Amino acid sequence: MQKRLVVQGRLSDDQLSTLSDLFKVDVLPNPNVLDAPENRAVLAGAHGIIGSGLAITPALLDAAPQLEVIATISVGYDSIPVDELTKRGIMLCNTPDVLTETTADTGFTLIMATARRAVELAEWLQAGKWQASIGPAQFGSDVHGKTLGMVGFGRIGQAVARRGALGFGMQVLYSNASPKPALERELGAQRRELNELLAEADFVCVTVPLNAETEHLIGTDEFALMKPSGIFINIARGKVVDETALVNALENGVIKAAGLDVFEQEPLPASSPLPKMPNVVALPHIGSATHETREAMAQRAADNVRLALLGKHPISLVNEEAYQ
Ligand code: NAP
Repeated sequence: MQKRLVVQGRLSDDQLSTLSDLFKVDVLPNPNVLDAPENRAVLAGAHGIIGSGLAITPALLDAAPQLEVIATISVGYDSIPVDELTKRGIMLCNTPDVLTETTADTGFTLIMATARRAVELAEWLQAGKWQASIGPAQFGSDVHGKTLGMVGFGRIGQAVARRGALGFGMQVLYSNASPKPALERELGAQRRELNELLAEADFVCVTVPLNAETEHLIGTDEFALMKPSGIFINIARGKVVDETALVNALENGVIKAAGLDVFEQEPLPASSPLPKMPNVVALPHIGSATHETREAMAQRAADNVRLALLGKHPISLVNEEAYQ
């Protein structure tokens, strides 16, 4: 019997065709809401699901009793209850590595854009306000030679730090669950407690995964520790930061600026003050969003699901216990 694979989208025609040679492939009728009534029939018979932003619940798993593997087209899997999957023997695969450099590029885009006020001043020019030589009111801050504080020092955090240390002569500090001696040697990075890092860094860049420990890791108390000239960057997940506290810190001069790729609620509601603030650069969660990287992520996820459904070890498996 051919196994059934449910595809939420984001795969190329070639990737779909390769999977269709091996499995019975169903494209989700409603790709935006996984547990929508019109999706139930295809999910009921699914052995595998591949897609991104998959909001998996125990009820949905109950409705898909044959499920063997979920392949998310992302490195983060905060919308998926891993323990619940493992309990049921369902593998969870993600797409680390292939998006690391692109997401780090996004982080550095935000560092540069906030420090040099690139978006604000481009809009100022567009509005016809460049009528004499610019002066201190339009000056920004240096990036080179400053102190970069990485909150989370995994694949993406290290890639951002490399750009800062090697490209911009920045001193790198990091706070992370475990020490990273190799990076300390490579970049001269120094490990700090989070509170110390917040107080010392000129740029604080968050790259921890969202989990029970990191939800609202950064709030009012943490912003208060930052320098008033400090710039805050979040390329991890919106819920790592208390967004109300962030708005207050930006409005009241507790910190200078913020560069944000992720938000507590996405898409960002129109009522959010953040994109309208001149000292904020807000992007619509584009961390990994280049043609090349999204293609590579989809390919990694397709490879993961193919291997898993053929009984082989996937390339990127989150819950090893489920394979065994
Ligand atoms: P990673 O390699 O697993 O790095 C995460 C790092 O965070 C690890 O070094 C880990 O420590 C550390 N960490 C975990 N929990 C912590 C805690 N409670 N306190 C301090 N440090 C903690 O993951 P990655 O590939 O760099 O990705 C990081 C996150 O970026 C993803 O989970 C995802 O949410 C986000 N992301 C966003 C975008 C975007 O579009 N903006 C794109 C890709 C990824 P250990 O090394 O000790 O385990």
